[in-house]
Amino acid sequence: MFSYWQKNYFAAPFDVTVIGAGINGLLAASFLKKKHPALRVAVFEKGILPDGATLRNAGFACFGSMTELMEDAELNGREAVLKLLKSRYDGLRMLRDWCGDAAIGYEACGGFEFFARDEKETLEKVKEALPGWNRDIEDFCGLRNTFADSSARAAEMELNACLGLIGNPYEGAVNSAMLIRTLWQKAVSVGVEVYTNFELDQYETTGTGFTLRFGNAHKVQTRRLLFCTNGYLRHLPGLSDLAPARGQVLVTEPIPGLKLKGTFHHHFGYNYFREIDGRILLGGGRFLDREGETDAGHVLNEKIQDYLEGLLGSMILPGRDVRIETRWAGIMAVGETKRPIVKKLEENLYFAGRMGGMGVALGAHSAREVAELIAESL
Ligand SMILES: Cc1cc2nc3c(=O)[nH]c(=O)nc-3n(C[C@H](O)[C@H](O)[C@H](O)COP(=O)(O)OP(=O)(O)OC[C@H]3O[C@@H](n4cnc5c(N)ncnc54)[C@H](O)[C@@H]3O)c2cc1C
Repeated sequence: MFSYWQKNYFAAPFDVTVIGAGINGLLAASFLKKKHPALRVAVFEKGILPDGATLRNAGFACFGSMTELMEDAELNGREAVLKLLKSRYDGLRMLRDWCGDAAIGYEACGGFEFFARDEKETLEKVKEALPGWNRDIEDFCGLRNTFADSSARAAEMELNACLGLIGNPYEGAVNSAMLIRTLWQKAVSVGVEVYTNFELDQYETTGTGFTLRFGNAHKVQTRRLLFCTNGYLRHLPGLSDLAPARGQVLVTEPIPGLKLKGTFHHHFGYNYFREIDGRILLGGGRFLDREGETDAGHVLNEKIQDYLEGLLGSMILPGRDVRIETRWAGIMAVGETKRPIVKKLEENLYFAGRMGGMGVALGAHSAREVAELIAESL
């Protein structure tokens, strides 16, 4: 039984309800509320803490390594890749402007693509293609000399098993915990209501919007509903090209004298590593078990975790005795292309997400787009 206060204030209908407190959900709610302060906007999140990719990722503020861009261009054409790269770059700028660099632990550390000793042929192809890509990126995004041969930096970082590095000075890294905390605080500061430990079980259409039912038996009325649920809910109306893809990550114990600085991509962007708090964070290897890594559970994959541990010992820090402290899994949303989906699914029902492995860069961009789409219907 609700009190007068609960019934008339908390349980009164929302104008817009967002499901999912990741980068997309928190930013979309914030942008909408900031532009339309009279709206009542809420975010409901199933975890006690936000439990999606934004707090399970590697914190790269990146927009694509050379081998990844070249592979994507073969599949989708160069222009599509350049457009997406621009959205990623613009998204990163928007995110940094909204949050402020210090609040999200942003480091302008630069990014590198790492080539191992047996990857000579690929490295040569990349070096050959590099001037053409730099010209196109300058034309599309205004960024000069995005990629350069930075192999000389390998020695100072004691990457002794490295054949070559291709550097990108425009990439950086964030602290994912600081990012979520800041997005959450900023959302609340503009007047968004954020509720955690609310898992949406069902929604039903009513004459004026939707009734939402949560696992904890709570019921909420809302006029508009926005799903920012990444790959966790795939059977939404009008969303056929959306699938979960699991990613595996590990973090080592502190490594005395670690010289690594920057974010590192390897093998078409599938593997990635960086320094965090004097440790190495390493993820990837999904290509080893694509079929097994397609459900939305946060489950460890032993084969991939072993592969990652092997990379540490053979490629990143050969000869060093390094112990693993933490392992986890996270979920990405993927589809036929790498473009995010920002879409009105039905009357008053919206989706924003599917950002693959680059949601830090793409999140602000798709959140802005969906907030504008909803605002058009007000
Ligand atoms: C292992 C890994 C490493 C990555 N590394 C990077 C990286 O370094 N750089 C980068 O740019 N990107 C990276 N990504 C991708 C990036 O993290 C994602 O693209 C981005 O965080 C997705 O944001 P989102 O808001 O769409 O989804 P999420 O952050 O996943 O948010 C969706 C939220 O919805 C909630 N939810 C789901 N169902 C319900 C429900 N029924 N009721 C209520 N709430 C619900 C979830 O709990 C979750 O909090 C990585 C992803 C993974 C998995």
